[in-house]
Amino acid sequence: MSDLNKKSLSEIVNLIKTKKISSLEITNHFIKNIEKGKKLNSFITTCFEESVKNAKNFDSKKNFDGLLSGVPLAVKDLFCTKNVKTTAGSKILENFIPTYESTVTNNLWSEGAILLGKLNCDEFAMGSSNETSYFGKTINPVGKDLVPGGSSGGSASALAANLTPATIGTDTGGSIRQPASFTGTVGLKPTYGLCSRWGIVAFASSLDQAGPMTKNVEDCALLLEAMSGYDQKDSTSINKKKENYSKNLSENIKGLKIGIPKEYRVENMPKEIDNLWKKGIDILKKSGAQIVDIVLPHTKYALPTYYIVAPAEASSNLARYDGVKYGYRSKKGKNLIEMYENTRGEGFGDEVKRRILIGTYVLSSGYYDAYYLKAQKVRKLIKNDFDECFKNVDAILTPSTPSSAFRIGEKTNDPISMYLNDIFTVPINLAGIPAISIPAGQDDQGHPLGLQLISKALDEQKILNIAFAMEKNIAFKQSLNRWWE
Ligand code: GLN
Repeated sequence: MSDLNKKSLSEIVNLIKTKKISSLEITNHFIKNIEKGKKLNSFITTCFEESVKNAKNFDSKKNFDGLLSGVPLAVKDLFCTKNVKTTAGSKILENFIPTYESTVTNNLWSEGAILLGKLNCDEFAMGSSNETSYFGKTINPVGKDLVPGGSSGGSASALAANLTPATIGTDTGGSIRQPASFTGTVGLKPTYGLCSRWGIVAFASSLDQAGPMTKNVEDCALLLEAMSGYDQKDSTSINKKKENYSKNLSENIKGLKIGIPKEYRVENMPKEIDNLWKKGIDILKKSGAQIVDIVLPHTKYALPTYYIVAPAEASSNLARYDGVKYGYRSKKGKNLIEMYENTRGEGFGDEVKRRILIGTYVLSSGYYDAYYLKAQKVRKLIKNDFDECFKNVDAILTPSTPSSAFRIGEKTNDPISMYLNDIFTVPINLAGIPAISIPAGQDDQGHPLGLQLISKALDEQKILNIAFAMEKNIAFKQSLNRWWE
C-alpha cells in the first residue's frame, strides 16, 4: 500500500479489521518512518522489538474486536509504561523503568493498540516549546527552525511527520492544544477527570489531563473513546458511562449557539489570528450556528493565577525526587541532606527549578494566604465566568494561540514571553472544562494556525461535532515535503 502516510487512524483501523493490511505491515511502516525521522528528535525511546512481537501476536489472534485493533502508537514520555523507560523529559528520571502501566495507556493496549515508543516533551511537561527537555529540542516538521510547541512537542512533531498515526499528550495549561495548533494537527483536552491520571508523571494534579492528538476530528473522537473511562485508582476520576464519541459524531450543528468572548481579543494580536477567528465565525454561521457575543471578565487573571497554582502543586509533587525512592542519585555529598540537595540540583533543569522555587515561595507560611489562597479564589471566579456563559451558549470559539510556531531559541531567555503563549488555553484548565484545537488556516509564511472550541464539563461530543462540521468547511491541507528524511 503506497500512500499509507495519507491514511488516518480510523482508516488504518478499518484496513486492519478488514484484513487489507496486517498489524505487522503497518507497524513496520511506522518503524521505517521513525528511523527516517531522527532529525526531528521527537522520540526519547523506541521499543521496536516489542512492537514487532506485539504486532505478530495481534495478527495471530482470531476475532479480536477493539477500537484500535493492531494499530501502532507512540505516546508522550509522561505516561508510565511497564518495563519501558519513562523519563518525563528529565535527567532525574533518565533511567526510570516503571513496574506499572498508566491507566490511559493500558486502555489503549486493551483496545488493541501497540506501543512504538516514547515521545519527547518539556521536562516534567513544563514548557511551551519542547526546549526544556533534557533529551534535546524537538523540531517542528513544518519548518527546520521552528519549535513544535510544548509540552507535548514530541507528540505533535511525530504526528505531523507521520511517525505515528495518532498519539496522546497531557495538558496542564495548553500542552496538547498549543502544539496541535503549531503543527496543523487536532488536539483535545478533556474535562478534568474524564481520563485517569493514574500512572502519569504528575505536574500540577488539579490541572493535569491526558488527551488525544490526531490528524483529524474523527480520529480524535475515536482515540478519546479508547483512552477515557472511570478508574477507581484515581480519586478525581469521574464515574460515568463510557461514550461512543466516534459513532455519535455529527456535522449537524444547526441552531447551536456559539459564544465569542471579547476578552480574547488581546493587545498586539497578529492580524492573521484575528482574520482566522473571523473565518471561523463565518464558517459557523454558514453551518447554521448562531453567534453570540459573550464576556469572560476574569480572563486577564488566568495566566497569573495559573503561574501560582501550577508551580505550587509542582513543588509539592516533585518533592518525591530525592535520590532515594527512584531515579537519579548524585554521588556527591557527605550526608543525607547534601545527597538530596545535590541530586535535585544536578537532576532538574532550570525551568523545573524555577517552578519549584516559585511554588515553594507561594506556599510558604506568611505568603500562602496572599498568593496561593488568593489564586484559588480567583480560579473560582474564572470558573464562574464560564458557568455563567454556558447558561446561554453551547460552546465558545477562540484562537488556540496568540501566534503561529515561533523560532527555536526565540523565547528561551524570556520566561514571561514563553508563558504568554498559554494565554488562550490556561483558563480552560483552571475551569476544568474541555477544549479542542483544530487546524484552521495558515499565516503568510504558510505556518499553521488553530482555532479552539470550548464547552461546559462533559460536553466533549458537542465540541467534537462542531469541530467536525468546521473541519469539513475549512478543508485544511498541509503538504510537508518530508525534508527530514
Ligand atoms: N506551557 C504551560 C507550562 O509551561 C503548560 C504546560 C502543560 O500544559 N503541561 O506550564
